[in-house]
Amino acid sequence: MNTEQPYLLTPGPITTTLSVKQAMLQDWGSWDGDFRAKTAELCRHLIALIDGEDSHVCVPLQGSGTFAVEATLATLVPKAGKLLVLMNGAYGQRMGKIMDYLGRDYVALDKGDYAPPRAEEVEAVLVADPAITHVAVVHCETSSGILNPIEEIAEVVARHQRGLIIDSMSAFGAVAISAKTVQFDALISSANKCFEGVPGFGFSLIRQRALEASKGNAHSLSMDLLDQWQYLAKTGQWRYTPPTHVVAAFLQALKEHGEEGGVAGRHARYQRNQQRLVAGMRQLGFETLLSDEWLSPIIITFFSPGHEHFDFQTFYDRMKAQGFIIYPGKLTAAESFRLGCIGQLHDPQIDAVLAAVATVLNEMNIPDGTPAHALNAAASA
Ligand SMILES: *Cc1c(COP(=O)(O)O)cnc(C)c1O
Repeated sequence: MNTEQPYLLTPGPITTTLSVKQAMLQDWGSWDGDFRAKTAELCRHLIALIDGEDSHVCVPLQGSGTFAVEATLATLVPKAGKLLVLMNGAYGQRMGKIMDYLGRDYVALDKGDYAPPRAEEVEAVLVADPAITHVAVVHCETSSGILNPIEEIAEVVARHQRGLIIDSMSAFGAVAISAKTVQFDALISSANKCFEGVPGFGFSLIRQRALEASKGNAHSLSMDLLDQWQYLAKTGQWRYTPPTHVVAAFLQALKEHGEEGGVAGRHARYQRNQQRLVAGMRQLGFETLLSDEWLSPIIITFFSPGHEHFDFQTFYDRMKAQGFIIYPGKLTAAESFRLGCIGQLHDPQIDAVLAAVATVLNEMNIPDGTPAHALNAAASA
């Protein structure tokens, strides 16, 4: 194992290819035609991935993914609008927090740590509250790894003529979505998750009609996606300094995404990583938080072993010494940790992760990964 540069089993930034890193070895003038061509190609490519040529436009924004989420909410939800935020984890909660900062009205449908928001529940809220203008949902809620039922939610939101905003940060690029079959006003993602680029910008794929109607909504100049888009359309340039090297790396990442078979090809590899990780971990006694039906091919939450010797920091440090950076859990009720399936992880890395987990359990004198609830159930049986 290459222990000097550990593999990232995290939901982004993730392990990138050498060729993506090498694409950053050149400096670009942000106003230059060559760089403007890169921006145009980036936007064209992303819009094509959602079949959005006739309906949506791409607005890239400097910063991490959260910047793009905040900018999209600020641009699309009018000051007098009202947002329904579907929450089942940290990223739904974060959208509520953004609304608090914006000082705009919202209600939450909060399902707790990981239960999926269902269409009937969303419909009941929309019917009861006609003031709601928009609904926001997280596609893959990265805190638990659940893949939320986006199609049924989009159907009900469209039927009730509200605008849908999808945080697809950790899903887009590996989970197929078409603007021709799923109706949404905006889908937000970033460079450094399933596209396997490096961090530095996010983007929002916005229904052109909705964006054009958004004048005066944004509370902040830098966050105004209408202004960003209009400037881009007029000049081919980003407003303000773009992350030139990150964009160059992203173009290379898009090329490799295409070579892997696009969204379907990437999905297949991540799905295989997920299935092999889950099967191997279950063999070691671990349990997943979610039933198979809700597991995403992005990231998996495992309950921590219930054995008295288990300590997350020790487990983390020893996994790192084996060449893998794992991710802490985010559940309020039970101890857990997460393993990501995305980035440059292939069969040999997955095999090595499983071998490393077995080694580390052994080093910690823990017989297997059985979680506390299963140990307690066995003890009381
Ligand atoms: C990663 C992530 C974000 C935020 O991205 P940052 O780049 O950390 O700001 C938002 N939503 C979801 C679902 C994510 O997975």
